[in-house]
Formats: sequence, structure tokens, C-alpha cells
Amino acid sequence: MSPQNILNADLHCHSVVSDGTLTPEALAERAKANGVELWALTDHDEIGGQQRAAAAAKAQGMHYLTGTEVSVTFAGQTVHIVGLGFDAGNPEIMQGLRNTRGGREQRAMEMSDSLAKVGIKGAYEGALKFVGNPELISRTHFARFLVESGVCRETNEVFRKYLTEGKPGYVPHRWATLRDAVTWITQAQGVAVIAHPGRYKFTPNEEYALFTEFKSHGGRGVEVVTGSHTPQEYLKYAETAKEFGLAASRGSDFHSPDESHTDLGTLPFLPGELTPVWELLADRIQ
Ligand code: AMP
Ligand code: MN
Ligand code: MN
Ligand code: MN
Repeated sequence: MSPQNILNADLHCHSVVSDGTLTPEALAERAKANGVELWALTDHDEIGGQQRAAAAAKAQGMHYLTGTEVSVTFAGQTVHIVGLGFDAGNPEIMQGLRNTRGGREQRAMEMSDSLAKVGIKGAYEGALKFVGNPELISRTHFARFLVESGVCRETNEVFRKYLTEGKPGYVPHRWATLRDAVTWITQAQGVAVIAHPGRYKFTPNEEYALFTEFKSHGGRGVEVVTGSHTPQEYLKYAETAKEFGLAASRGSDFHSPDESHTDLGTLPFLPGELTPVWELLADRIQ
């Protein structure tokens, strides 16, 4: 592998096992074609694709870390915690993620009822047509249905008009706690990473609390270079990583060739002065 920070690592993306549109095998092929050297598939609240992804990475000649992206509720907002390099057969993380997925079906039916009230009928059934894993129906699948049925032109517009707080299709949901998510990952020999911190709408005090509590539970990494950050945010969260003594991660958050602006393996490298998260995971790389 290339040394340290100039490694083309992509440690955040989604397959049909959550809300991506490609199979783990197709993602591995695309990552390889884009020059990725170290890859992780990080489906939301789900590790059912890990064996396929690891096998596909091996077949493509790429190094692999196990991955997931856990939905957490912190200070009234949804925060995502990426887990990397954990043992995918660990019973506690498997059960924790199963519980986290558990409320999704009920939430989806409520979203559908709520959309019906503004005249959008059959959204639950419509979203289901886009679902690859019956345990993982997400807002993204509703967004695809609303684009297909002509209500909106693209998924971004659906989120803006229907699926975010205060909008007619939004249903609040309580996910895992920060402590539980970090603990599931670390007790399974993985490293917990705060995903795309630039996306949250926290006050500076709340953001400080997030990083402080995350560290106190054993969290060790933060995404600095991600498809969800602007170049200014790369700099901002590079400083945050140093301030909190966290390792840095890099990942596209790729979901679909038709929807994602950032392709696998195409982001800038991590700033040179940061410790890459894969340095903490050298003995977990497959
Ligand atoms: P859920 O876990 O069901 O709440 O769905 C969250 C997913 O929705 C995220 O992982 C993204 O893939 C997608 N998403 C959230 N906000 C947006 C947005 N503004 N535009 C497009 N996709 C979004
Ligand atoms: Mn997603
Ligand atoms: Mn996320
Ligand atoms: Mn993601």
C-alpha cells in the first residue's frame, strides 16, 4: 500500500444492503477502477453486506476494512457514527445494529401516512420498490419514489421539500445512543469515527459536547475529507481532529452513480499533519 496519508482510502459508501443503488461487487469494481487502495463498505445500521464486500475487495486486489454507519440521536439531532475494522461476527454489534434497524418499518409507514395528507398516495409501497433490504427502508428510498412519480426532479429536492424537519413527510425518530454506538464498535475491536461533522446543525457548544462525549466513550476518529464537506470544512475539521487528538478518516459517502456528486476514490488526500485512521487499524486490514 502507499504510505500513510497519500493512500487512496475510501472508507464510507453505501450498497443496496442499505440505501445505495449498487451491489457490493459493483462498488468494489468501481472503487478499483477509480484507484482505491483501501476500501470499506459502510451501510447504514447494517453489516449484512460485509462478507460480500470483503470477498469482492480481495478479488479486485484491494485492501479492506469492515464498516458500518450507525444512526445515533444526540442533543435532539441525528448523528452518524462510522465503525471501521470491527469483527463483523461479534454478537453485540450484530444485536445493537438489529435493534437500531428495528424502528424503520413503523417510521416508514408513518412517513407514508404523513405524505398521504399532502396528497402523495402510496408512498410506502412506492418506496418499497427501491428497497434492497427489507430491514432497511430509509428516507432515500422515499426520495427515489417521489422522483420516479414526478413529484420532484431530484432526490435533493425531495429532502428539501418533504423529508427534513418541519416538512410534511418528516417523522422524528429516536436512534441509538452515542455511548451504545461507540461501545458496540470498540468492544468488537473496531474504531469509531464521527461521520461528516460539517453536516450537523449544532451550536458550537453542542458540537464541543459531541466531540467530548464521543472521546469519553472511546471514540478515536473523525471524518475530515468527505463528500459531505466543503474544502473549508476539510481545514476546519483537520483543526478539530488535532484539538481533540482524533485520527482522521476519508470517504466519499458514495450512494449512486445517478445521485452522488462525489465518486469513490476521487477526494483529495488527507492533510499531511493528521494521523490517518487506518494507522490505528493496521492489524485489522484484510
Ligand atoms: P434515514 O437513515 O432513513 O434517515 O436516511 C438518511 C439518508 O438520507 C442519508 O444517509 C442520505 O443518504 C440521505 N439524505 C439525507 N439528507 C439528504 C439530502 N439533503 N439530499 C440527499 N440525500 C439525503
Ligand atoms: Mn444514506
Ligand atoms: Mn451519513
Ligand atoms: Mn453515509
